[in-house]
Amino acid sequence: MCHDADIREALVAWFQRTHRDLPWRRTSDPYALWVSEVMLQQTGVKSVIPYYREFLRRFPTVRALARAPLDEVLKAWEGLGYYARARNLHKGAQFIVRRFRGTLPTTCDEWLQVPGVGPVTASALASYLSGEPRPAVDGNARRVISRLFRVRQRSSQRLFERNILKFAKRMVVAPNAGTLNQALMELGATVCKPRAPLCASCPVSRWCKAFAEGHPEKYPGRRVRPGVQSVRVVAAVIRRNAKILITRRPPEGLLGGLWEFPGGKIEAGESPGQALQRELREELGIQVRIGKPLLETSHRYTHLKVHLTFLEAVLVKGPIKPGRGCSAWRWVRHEELKRFAFPAADKAVIRLLTQARHTR
Ligand code: SF4
Repeated sequence: MCHDADIREALVAWFQRTHRDLPWRRTSDPYALWVSEVMLQQTGVKSVIPYYREFLRRFPTVRALARAPLDEVLKAWEGLGYYARARNLHKGAQFIVRRFRGTLPTTCDEWLQVPGVGPVTASALASYLSGEPRPAVDGNARRVISRLFRVRQRSSQRLFERNILKFAKRMVVAPNAGTLNQALMELGATVCKPRAPLCASCPVSRWCKAFAEGHPEKYPGRRVRPGVQSVRVVAAVIRRNAKILITRRPPEGLLGGLWEFPGGKIEAGESPGQALQRELREELGIQVRIGKPLLETSHRYTHLKVHLTFLEAVLVKGPIKPGRGCSAWRWVRHEELKRFAFPAADKAVIRLLTQARHTR
């Protein structure tokens, strides 16, 4: 017997009764909802809240965001990670101003025209803004659906996603599409947790197949993830008069558009000093004399662990001629460093430089 209508009714009633009071649930402004959806893509609610508030304070409208220099947008995003989201939001805002005269889309088809907006975000926004019955399946909703209907993740990821979407379409229907999308995500985030689901407080337990089977935590099953790669990187703190050289990464790719201390990967058989001299010659066309080591640190990105060595270096031959790994360069004073957006991995050396300056 099909209980879809009962499940939907229970989900909507539960969500209306118990949902968390989050800043983006107090607004119907499509721009603010778009910002929140993008921030929540790869980041948890707790971390997003202060960034969301600050971002809207700095860029209160889509026009303000479109007008802002990319550097300022990246600075506001600094620390939130996955910087492609910030670049896409900025590009998307410029597109909306140009193509839609600053009016935010409300339908899924319109949202999909905006650069950087994928099907999950477009579906979520369309369901909130116009009630369009489009399922928006994030990791939390995926887990709930997988357990409710016993959809197991096996070797074929594509088949699994297709089955999840099939059930999600059955769940997310008019007239409560927006609430149903939110309820599925909220249930996954607060009750149907990955390791220890709180089935005793679940509004849909009586229809849940994984609960009936007795082992809900087995669903959706393990996804085969690519292993974490490890790279060694060296970077230079090069001083000239009272200034330090910083370079900007190319706009696309990992950490695209962020500023950093110049350097690059240490190849097999190279010492950090040798790698630094080679990288600076290739990337900036300069020669340096290697000075004292400053700091060793490491940082984990999703599939990448970076071990970083920072060395002092003195410019012995210029001028700077940036290559393909560098989109801009500047000599900046210590106190100006905080105006630029840097990857998290560079923060430790900035702190060290600042401390050394204050204790001098
Ligand atoms: Fe998840 Fe348990 Fe609810 Fe099933 S009964 S949806 S496993 S919390």
